[in-house]
Amino acid sequence: MNLKKAVETDNKFVFQTYRRTPILITKGKGVYVYDDSGRKYLDFLGGIAVNALGHCNARVNSSVKAQLAKLSHVSNLYYSEPMLNLAVRLTKVAGMSKIFYCNSGAEANEAAIKLVRRFHSEIKKDGRFEIICFRNSFHGRTLGSLSATGQDVYKKGFAPLMPGFKFADFNDIASVKKLITGKTAAIMLEPIQGEAGVYPATREFMAGLDALRKKHGLELIFDEVQCGLGRTGRWFAYQSYNVKPDVVTMAKSIGAGLPLGAMMARGAVTAGFEPGSHASTFGAGPVACTAALAFMDEVEKKDLLANVKRKGDYIVSQLKSLRAKYPEIVEVRGKGLMIGVEVDADARKAAAFFLENGMIVNAIRQNIIRILPPYIIDEKHAGRFVSLLKAFFDKAREEAK
Ligand SMILES: *Cc1c(COP(=O)(O)O)cnc(C)c1O
Repeated sequence: MNLKKAVETDNKFVFQTYRRTPILITKGKGVYVYDDSGRKYLDFLGGIAVNALGHCNARVNSSVKAQLAKLSHVSNLYYSEPMLNLAVRLTKVAGMSKIFYCNSGAEANEAAIKLVRRFHSEIKKDGRFEIICFRNSFHGRTLGSLSATGQDVYKKGFAPLMPGFKFADFNDIASVKKLITGKTAAIMLEPIQGEAGVYPATREFMAGLDALRKKHGLELIFDEVQCGLGRTGRWFAYQSYNVKPDVVTMAKSIGAGLPLGAMMARGAVTAGFEPGSHASTFGAGPVACTAALAFMDEVEKKDLLANVKRKGDYIVSQLKSLRAKYPEIVEVRGKGLMIGVEVDADARKAAAFFLENGMIVNAIRQNIIRILPPYIIDEKHAGRFVSLLKAFFDKAREEAK
């Protein structure tokens, strides 16, 4: 299939829910993907934070192949080893006590919402069910996680959404306090808002939320679907804030390219689920869990968390020094390899320019360039991003003359 045929087929047979970039990606290797014409692209979006080890990682692929030859699926009505081994490892690195497996970020958030609701309804019996969420947040597309999402564009046309969610302003603790009532059960947030354009929570805000949790007996739910699993240079973003959630959700990079999501919790709220409370047919699948174990092995054996931190710091410092000569760079935000560059320029044009020059980055809104590169990048790859950004500004200046 070539690109023309791909576009035609997609238009004809597939719901047009995505605005796709016109390239037909046929294979990937390490930090690169290749299109049907054999053209190579440095992939700094990584399947939107999924391909954290790059493409076709050898350890992941060989573990998955071996697992496929043994057992590809088994019902959750029976025990299987990969999900148990993964449960031990994930709860340990996260400091959590229990895990529930599913297949995506939206589902992980559904599980979190259900856990908290059921805990208050069946265990505490305190009539609390409301969850305070944040404007510009993103928690997924299912009706529950969409109801928790603070962006109207995603909600249009789907009313009535689920009741029980209120919205405060991110990084504004006073706006959270105002919404707390006798019905408030939990506060739910992304420690670094991703789809909003990469906005990290401030330390004061996190400490403030922690204090509100203690004062009012609330649960803190962190959606680490995008910022978790090493993306920030720690296994979980909250580990650099020193605020531990009661419930944390993850997906994206955990399955190293295979669909896997999970919700973990600790403390009293874990009593919210009992046999029959929640389930997922594919959740905890042996192949996806094997991929996740290989992902964790690779991160640890290659010391990739340190690489994430080093390369992230490198990119941010390069961008900040570039700013002296290029006021087109308005702000550089993020942590580790989750970086948003707010520009005084058309971010979509920038992304198109990067693509023409063999590099994939992501434009959010009109003016934010987001990168979520794999944890394995070296300094050359990082430098390429900075030099192409500079070249884009030079070209735009030239054109404006
Ligand atoms: C991507 C994302 C989700 C949704 O994940 P899916 O796997 O697409 O359902 C939820 N929360 C955050 C923070 C995300 O970035």
